[in-house]
Amino acid sequence: MDPLDVLTNLEKVIPYYQAIFSADEQRVIGYEVLGRIQIENDVESLGSFFHDENIPDEYRIEVDDYILHNALKEFLSLMDSEILLFINRDANLLMLDHGESFLQALLDQQINGLKLTQIVLEITEHNFQGDTEQLYHLLTYYRTYGIKIAIDNIGKASSNLDRIGLLSPDILKIDLQPLRLTSPLQSYYDVLYSISLLARKIGATLLYEDVEVNFQLQYAWKNGGRYYQGYFLDKPKREFLQRDDSKERLKREFQTFISTEKKKLETIYKFTEQFHKRIQQFLMKYDKQDEQYELLLNQLSNELDDCCFRIYICDEDGFQQSVNIFKKDTWIVQPQYYMKNWSWRPYFLANIIKMRFEKKGFLSDVYSDIETGELIRTFSYPLNNIHYLFVDLSYEYLFEEEGLL
Ligand code: CA
Repeated sequence: MDPLDVLTNLEKVIPYYQAIFSADEQRVIGYEVLGRIQIENDVESLGSFFHDENIPDEYRIEVDDYILHNALKEFLSLMDSEILLFINRDANLLMLDHGESFLQALLDQQINGLKLTQIVLEITEHNFQGDTEQLYHLLTYYRTYGIKIAIDNIGKASSNLDRIGLLSPDILKIDLQPLRLTSPLQSYYDVLYSISLLARKIGATLLYEDVEVNFQLQYAWKNGGRYYQGYFLDKPKREFLQRDDSKERLKREFQTFISTEKKKLETIYKFTEQFHKRIQQFLMKYDKQDEQYELLLNQLSNELDDCCFRIYICDEDGFQQSVNIFKKDTWIVQPQYYMKNWSWRPYFLANIIKMRFEKKGFLSDVYSDIETGELIRTFSYPLNNIHYLFVDLSYEYLFEEEGLL
């Protein structure tokens, strides 16, 4: 599309609205404004126009402002003071006049009833070329008016976690498109997981976008997503979707997710109970004592040969009180692990205290083993008042068992 065609046909430029839904209310909580142009009988996206850095800044700003003006007018006609309007701005363009004209456009509408607390400014962080500190100051200034800040397009291109943290947005918009690939890389999931932890730490709400099929919605729900957007829920439209139009459908979807998740958790709970009993029964039969537990580990490796590949014992400060017994084709003894300390590992001490108080075995989450690189789980078990048994369950075993991976 020729940029001049857009500028000479400004009256054909129109705002479209894509609804954003919330998990807690199962209804629309806002709309993202998207630029479109009417060409004969077709409506085309202006996305490429806005992202084309060869188009002079002032052209893009002019079209952006035109859409904003009309969108605000239509938004105000909704007379709904609860709902949010998500507005995209290129951070590079925004900074050209230190964000003044954008703010002024919003302030001008206060007389018509606009509350700035209803505005969410979406900016993209990864293509911002200016000084982050200055952008941060502008966003902080906007916030004093109640404007909320969303960082857009996270997950699509490489995002800077420290820069996102510094900008401390209210909302993180995460793109779920890569999930449509037949086999997304494990690293993609890991990055999404890190982002969700960051969001939790900085108190930002997660909005998952580009939700196009059911399993993406399920992923979003399961991974801390409070807000959702995408074709699966609502396509961008010329009109605003009624807030409760999808409520029943969303409620049904969530109910299915809840049941599935509860079943998975029940499976893990039952497995934990059974495995606890299995070790308990073995220990009841076992009566020999030796200082370094080698005999015990030896016999345990026979007993648990079907499921585990590493066994060892620690005290409650994390100092290993035994050798490792490790399965590498056959079981081998690794004496070098004696007296190593594992208290630095995530959740280690928390899990010890949990076991001490509950006097029960405990199954870890799935994680990558630091030595083998395989996905595993660890079953830990309070052996007596001072020592704890650790049994690493192999990937093959978890894979065969229902619901453990
Ligand atoms: Ca956006």
